[in-house]
Amino acid sequence: MATIASALQSVKQQIESMGKGRVELLAVSKTWPAEAIRAAYEAGQKAFGESYVQEALEKMNALSDLDIEWHFIGPVQSNKTKAIAAHFDWVHGVDSERIAMRLSDGRPEGMPPLQVCIQVNVSGEASKSGIEPEKAADLASCISRLKGLKLRGLMTIPEPTADKALQRKRFNELRKIKESLSEYDLDTLSMGMSADFESAIQEGATIVRIGSAIFGNRKKK
Ligand SMILES: *Cc1c(COP(=O)(O)O)cnc(C)c1O
Repeated sequence: MATIASALQSVKQQIESMGKGRVELLAVSKTWPAEAIRAAYEAGQKAFGESYVQEALEKMNALSDLDIEWHFIGPVQSNKTKAIAAHFDWVHGVDSERIAMRLSDGRPEGMPPLQVCIQVNVSGEASKSGIEPEKAADLASCISRLKGLKLRGLMTIPEPTADKALQRKRFNELRKIKESLSEYDLDTLSMGMSADFESAIQEGATIVRIGSAIFGNRKKK
């Protein structure tokens, strides 16, 4: 598993070489086995992103001896909110009041609030997940009143494109929306994946979610 350690190192160097200050690296481990996560952890990585609840719970079990910060980054189905709220530290893709309320209700007493981001759809027709930009303020207001949640910021998954200018335009839009929500004291812009994280960092990403550049290409499900 030396390759995971060296890929991790090289991604970190790429991030650092951009000179934009502190950017958190979230290692997206969906579809990869617990041993791959353990290898990355031993190479210094603490935060991991998972998209499928059942798969994640199995890995959490196998890795319970490690001090991992678990981020749920997949679409949140309403029948999974309880398991997500009980087992994860962060949820990146909150895009409705209904899901926000269910996550808050499901957060067990005695645990710190679940750290959440609102997922915003910045590419319009091209993508279906996330709320429309105009609705972000209402959802932020709802979440900020929920006891079980702590609103940290915004997340987006723009349409895949090799056009760097378009990548930056989308990420810039997310940043503008965050700035428009100044009363909520948001500190997080979760944006950028393996193929576009440099554009995201140029536009102010504070968390980049990177899978294949660390673990290799996923098999198609
Ligand atoms: C899978 C996934 C990623 C990582 O994608 P890579 O292209 O492998 O870096 C990031 N964010 C979300 C929401 C994902 O589902």
